[in-house]
Amino acid sequence: MDTEIVVKKNFKYRLYPSAAQTIALDTQLAEACRLYNAALQERRDAYRMAGKSLNYCDQANQLKDIRAAGDLGLINAQCAQDVLRRLDKAFKAFFTRIKRGQTPGYPRFRSASRYDSITFPTYGDGAKLLDNGKLRIQGVGQIKLKRHRPIEGVIKTVTVKRESGKWYAFLSVECEAKSLPPSTEKTGLDLGLQAFATLSDGTEIENPRYYKEAEACLRRAQRKVARRKRGSNNRKKAVRDLQRAHAHVRNQRADFAHKISRMLVELFGLIVIENLKIKGLAAGMLAKSVNDAGWSSFIAKLTYKAAEAGRVLLKVDPRGTSQRCVCGEPNPKTLSQRWHYCEICGLSVPRDHASAFEILRLFHRQAHVHSDGSCPCAVESRTSWGLLGGRPT
Ligand SMILES: [Zn+2]
Repeated sequence: MDTEIVVKKNFKYRLYPSAAQTIALDTQLAEACRLYNAALQERRDAYRMAGKSLNYCDQANQLKDIRAAGDLGLINAQCAQDVLRRLDKAFKAFFTRIKRGQTPGYPRFRSASRYDSITFPTYGDGAKLLDNGKLRIQGVGQIKLKRHRPIEGVIKTVTVKRESGKWYAFLSVECEAKSLPPSTEKTGLDLGLQAFATLSDGTEIENPRYYKEAEACLRRAQRKVARRKRGSNNRKKAVRDLQRAHAHVRNQRADFAHKISRMLVELFGLIVIENLKIKGLAAGMLAKSVNDAGWSSFIAKLTYKAAEAGRVLLKVDPRGTSQRCVCGEPNPKTLSQRWHYCEICGLSVPRDHASAFEILRLFHRQAHVHSDGSCPCAVESRTSWGLLGGRPT
């Protein structure tokens, strides 16, 4: 009776190439970059001289001859096709935006230092995990890989990436969803600026303290870059340090997002969150806060973990959730007002807790609008605090 849902996941592992392997990897990236730029040049010329637009197939058909003539150092054929597919994607995005009446920039040439990954679209063709735990990359050899967590599912593609001087392998896999035992617990989630999030039962999830330290570190690194002379070796070093600091913050954020989303999916069968796109609009300047990046990465992880576990995740329009009481009465507050008190129903809780309540209530309202009375919570919702996550104190 288990419904089989296939989910896609990425596993990221650190690679430890030898000095010679690093040179070989750099060469593969440089060649991929050269192919990308050449293909872009060809598209430009074809359009300028003949008014003709080339597509992926036009370009991919030439690959065989180019490779036969030994003009390309990118060793794996499918890897080369993937480079052309990336360019094709850039052009498709460009044309889509033109169609929408926007004025996008024409796809650009890439510098070798910015072209930092190659993808092997078919696992086993050019890239393979070996029994000895190493990753074999065609033209590079067997690279040491740190498998800090076991891989699950069937590997589909392998991407090798250079990130601020370090190398990583991204393995995309498809695996069967492992659904958790069903849960009737529900929660609303308010993503906040002070606490990371507040649940509708009043639980606050704090931002981890190490965020602050990492951000201070980031600011120091930024200042250092600004003070160094352009083009100097010291500046290059400072830029490298800054990239490392950014990567560190990114990793911490991802780690935190993994932990919190896993916990929520284990606890609740139904999770209601704010639609971030709308929240961004509504919050204006506040949306630029450091939390912004954290939120979207968190929601991405929550989304796939919920899907995998067979949980329901719903997004509601967050506008007004901090300006209304769950009883439906308006409750205007300025941003500095951290407490919610309603004179009508007597609800007295922290501000974000009230918002989380309201987010969960919005789901119930939506559910009722869309159903014909068959919604299981149609009866309860009229009566109690119960399904809002417990009676407020
Ligand atoms: Zn009220």
